[in-house]
Parts: sequence; C-alpha cells; structure tokens
Amino acid sequence: MAPGSGPRLLITGGAGFIGSALVRMLLTQRRDVAQVTVLDKLTYAGNLANLDPVAADRRLRFVEGDINDPRTVAEVMRGQDAVVHLAAESHVDRSIDSASRFATTNVLGTQTLLDTALQTGVGTFVHVSTDEVYGSIASGAWPESHPVLPNSPYAATKASADLLCLAYARTHGLDVRITRCSNNYGPYQFPEKIIPLFVTNLLQGQQVPLYGDGRNARDWLHVEDHCRGILLALEHGRPGEIYNLGGGTELSNHELTTRILGLLGAGPERIDWVEDRKGHDRRYCVDWSKAARELGYRPHHSLDQALPATVAWYRDHPSWWEPLRKTTDDEHTERQRQEAHG
Ligand code: NAD
Repeated sequence: MAPGSGPRLLITGGAGFIGSALVRMLLTQRRDVAQVTVLDKLTYAGNLANLDPVAADRRLRFVEGDINDPRTVAEVMRGQDAVVHLAAESHVDRSIDSASRFATTNVLGTQTLLDTALQTGVGTFVHVSTDEVYGSIASGAWPESHPVLPNSPYAATKASADLLCLAYARTHGLDVRITRCSNNYGPYQFPEKIIPLFVTNLLQGQQVPLYGDGRNARDWLHVEDHCRGILLALEHGRPGEIYNLGGGTELSNHELTTRILGLLGAGPERIDWVEDRKGHDRRYCVDWSKAARELGYRPHHSLDQALPATVAWYRDHPSWWEPLRKTTDDEHTERQRQEAHG
C-alpha cells in the first residue's frame, strides 16, 4: 500500500500511557496509515510529552476533548475507518477514593462513543478493557467466556463498558471487538502505577509502599506487546468477540518489588509494608490462547529483559517524570491545556 493511503484511525486516550504507545507504534511502523486522530481530555494522566517522538508527523492530529461530549465526538469520528478506545480513568486506588468520574468516563463516555460510531458508520470499534473485569482467580486462567465479576469500582465500570459494547454488537450489529489485557509496563507510564511509582520513589531516595502481605499476583505485559495485540484484534479479529491478551510472566507484588530494588541497588529495608488496598484482588490470570490461535498473538518481550530496560528508561528520563510527581492533578491538567493551545 502506498504511504498514507491506508486507514484513518481515531485513538481515544491517545495521550495516556498505552494510547500514546499505540500512536507512536502506528506512526513509526505503519507507513500506510493515512491519519491518526487522538481525542484526549488531558486529565492528570494525559501528557502531550508522550507524543513528542511523533509530534512532527503530519499524519498526527490532536484534538483536546471529552469522550462525554457528543458534539466533539461526532466531529472527530466522522470519516474515520476505525476507533480504538482507550480513554478512561484507569487507577484503581482513585476509584476507591471516588468512583463518580470513573462511571462518567468509563461507562457513559463509552456509550457516547458507541452511539456516535453507529450514527457515523465507523467500520470497526476496538474497546480496550482489562483482565480486572473477571475479578480474582485463585488458580488457573480465565477464558473469555468467564462471566465478569469485578471487585473494584474501576473494574466494575470497565465491565459495564464491556457489556455495553457487546450489547451494541448484538443489538445494532456494530463491529465491536474487546481486548482484555493484563498489567502493562513500559516507558511513559504515569508514576502512580506500581512500577514507575516504585522506580521513581527509589530514584528520589524514598521508600516504596507495598500493600498487605505482598503476595497479590499479577501477569505482566509489555505495553508494546499489548499494542501489537490491539492492532491484531483490529486487523484480524472478529466482530463481537473478546480477546484476552497476556504477557506470560506472573509475579507476586513482593517478587516484582524485589526485582526493582535489585535493579536499583537497593535492599529490602526500602520497603514500607502498608495496609492492604480495600477489596484488593488476590490474583489475575488470563488465558490468551484464543488470541494466539485466531490472531497469531504472542508477546515478544520477556520481563527478564524488558524490566531492566524499563527501569533504565525512568532513570534516564527524569525530565519526563519529575514534573508529574511535583504538581497536583489540576496544575498538571492546566499546564497541558496551555501547551495544547499555545
Ligand atoms: P492512562 O490513565 O495512562 O491514560 C488514560 C488517558 O485517557 C489519558 O490520556 C486521559 O487524559 C484520557 N482521558 C481520561 N478521561 C477522558 C475523557 N473523559 N475524555 C477523553 N480522554 C480522557 O491509562 P492507560 O494505562 O494508558 O490505560 C488505557 C486503557 O487501557 C484504559 O481503558 C484502561 O482501562 C486499559 N487498561 C490499562 C491497563 C494498564 O496496565 N495500564 C491494563 C488493562 C487495561
């Protein structure tokens, strides 16, 4: 295909951690893509600096806006071939403190996007969800057919959005595909999530707060592998289907912390054992054999190799994360807004 003669894509939440990785991947690796439009509200988690590496690419169009605003959504969705929906409130701890923004963005915002996709006749809609919708699993791995049983308010809003997506596929025949991935890691992750929080705490000489007994187990997926999986679902998935995307490395939070400490030359005395998160899911584990079989999905990065590279990225990029740790959410959003307009 000739350069730029291919699809026009709308990426919601494209200034966040995973969305920006997807945008960078599309613009650096897919010459055929005609245009990538990012719709992002630039909340505390949205960061224009995440798009700096591709900012000069003329195929990138950035629109600051809310997925809950039907007018803006209709404007940006018109003429798109596909939507990849990543915009969300994404941090479990924040949803425990206050869930209303999660319900507004994750549920109602998704519904606004689905309605607009119907009205504008968008070809394919990929909804990026999470393994957390399944709840906690003591042993084994969830297949996509497992019922949703979310525990945190965050996971409940993501599960609600998933159900809306499936309803629009069944009721209206909208071509919606859902991906459910495990915990992502990599560069440009907001320093409130465990890996960048612990790494940047250690780099600043602080302790790392480890929840409960540290035995909560998670599967780790490199963000580039996740983005490859999303694109496989977009290009080769089937309408109305769910695809689990896993990374293949399960670790307890204590094991993960020990690895991070080791990579930064720190000892176990740097751990602050803190009271457990309310309703903390013990273990997540997705069975991603369907994505492997149907899409040819498999993760390329191993945690053994990619965790040191991720830690090195944060060590080498203090100018990216220091401002995020210093400012309040509102100050950050206001600065982003000024940059977007100026
Ligand atoms: P993130 O918090 O880093 O980014 C979210 C982005 O959405 C930000 O840029 C933010 O500004 C934007 N946004 C928030 N509300 C918006 C609104 N109302 N309108 C428009 N934009 C809005 O999140 P992330 O880690 O990149 O996650 C992306 C998606 O992947 C989310 O849907 C999340 O639920 C899902 N997910 C993430 C993980 C993970 O490990 N990070 C795991 C599973 C699933």
